[in-house]
Amino acid sequence: MKKLRVVILKPSKYGTDGSVQRFRRGFMPNTTVPYIRSMTPQMIDDVVVETQTIDEYVQTDLRYLDLLRSDEPTLLALVGVQSHQFHRALDLGAYALKHKVRHVVIGGPHPMTCDTSMLHNRGVSFALAEAEMIWPAILRDAIRGQLQPVYGKGQRWQKELSPLIMQPPSSQDMKRYVVPLLGIYPARGCPYTCNFCSVIKIAGRQVRSVDVDTIMATLWAAKKAGIQFVLFTSDNFNKYADAPALLNQMIREKIDLPFMCQCDTQVSKQEDFIELLGRAGCFQMFVGVESLNRQTLLKAHKTQNHPQRYADIVRLVHKYGFNGHFSNIIGFPDDTEQSCHEHMAIIKELSPGAVSCYILCPLPGTEQYDDFRAEDLVYEKNLDRFDATCPTWSHPNLSPEQLTNLMFEFYRTFYSDERLIRSFTTRNRRMSWQSDLIARIFPVFNRYSVWRGLHPMAGGFWDIKRDHVSEYLDVRRQYYGYEHVPLPASLRLSEIDEKMNGNVKLVLA
Ligand code: SF4
Repeated sequence: MKKLRVVILKPSKYGTDGSVQRFRRGFMPNTTVPYIRSMTPQMIDDVVVETQTIDEYVQTDLRYLDLLRSDEPTLLALVGVQSHQFHRALDLGAYALKHKVRHVVIGGPHPMTCDTSMLHNRGVSFALAEAEMIWPAILRDAIRGQLQPVYGKGQRWQKELSPLIMQPPSSQDMKRYVVPLLGIYPARGCPYTCNFCSVIKIAGRQVRSVDVDTIMATLWAAKKAGIQFVLFTSDNFNKYADAPALLNQMIREKIDLPFMCQCDTQVSKQEDFIELLGRAGCFQMFVGVESLNRQTLLKAHKTQNHPQRYADIVRLVHKYGFNGHFSNIIGFPDDTEQSCHEHMAIIKELSPGAVSCYILCPLPGTEQYDDFRAEDLVYEKNLDRFDATCPTWSHPNLSPEQLTNLMFEFYRTFYSDERLIRSFTTRNRRMSWQSDLIARIFPVFNRYSVWRGLHPMAGGFWDIKRDHVSEYLDVRRQYYGYEHVPLPASLRLSEIDEKMNGNVKLVLA
């Protein structure tokens, strides 16, 4: 019987010392890999499809590279590739082609939002649209023996999300992570227009959702497979119209599966919704507060954020028994060393439960990237650094060293010794013991990462070095003709996608 082997691989990235970033234990699994796996049938016509999945961040040895050396019919799909992972994805693609894998495709935020035309027709294909729209065609073309150079050129987003019941990863795979969770997309898209954000370029401004029954079926499948936590990856869970119905259903069916979600700051006006989140088992609500300066937020087109309401969010999540996670950005154009210190002090005082902090990064494909490039502000040429933890552009008031130091200081200030001690001595009895354990581990994990000189969101515990970019530069040059791919232009939206965005009506509270 004919067979196609499909390797779904989430590439890691090259760290600042050039080594491939790997961890003995990841913090939490990637969402795209199980999603694409769930979309892959076991048979197509008379061809058996055998699927393997790899999250490169948690590969502690290089045995998985054996899968990329094969003269059997194999499709290597490098998925969820962001700009800072793009070189690594290209290198893995070239490595596979060199070792007789015939079909390689790269998909994810970078190819969807950035011009990759300088790399087309060199053996690796590029996916420019949501997987649902193009994955079946890619699989069929791989079976036929020939991939197209580009998929999804004319339309980035499908109008409606296709319902998909996700297959949970194996318990063996989950053992690689501290938080063994499954990421689920009940909805996709965000109506706002923050100029630094790539989400609206990747998923569009129209919030599209999956029906509640499908999400419940995924949750039950996850529960039965032993998954202990869920992350609703939708960017504005509070803007997802069916969220209350889903939460009520979770309560009615007593699923008892603790979860994290992401909400926008307008949730400060939705006390009933926060109460419902608490009852349904939410243990952490992620909120992009970004800045405490309203003028800065207005200039970044994040008009929906009102810093004076941030305290309400903290008060409400604590009232209903769970934690907030405030995500912050330092290095907006008007920031100074003093304003960053004031920002840290206020967030520490607000005490949302958890924080993260990034350096403002003009992410390729975003409006801000285009603006900064037009003003000739972007000095960094290596895509590996565009991960919001490295300085990349000329800030008027802060040097690259100051930005890096301030980012790490943010973590040390918030996750103080006092907070670490408190996290060990205080038990939140309104959370499940598993959720409470995560809340206790999180401060330690953050301090440990910062102590190792790693950004806590880099992905895991105990970094290990196995291979280095220098080992891949020859294949990169051979297949693509570049040592560093030039910074790309942003991809314009097609007429169809522009029209879809144009239908969005934004109501601000
Ligand atoms: S609210 Fe969040 S997801 Fe939406 S555009 Fe702004 S930063 Fe992006």
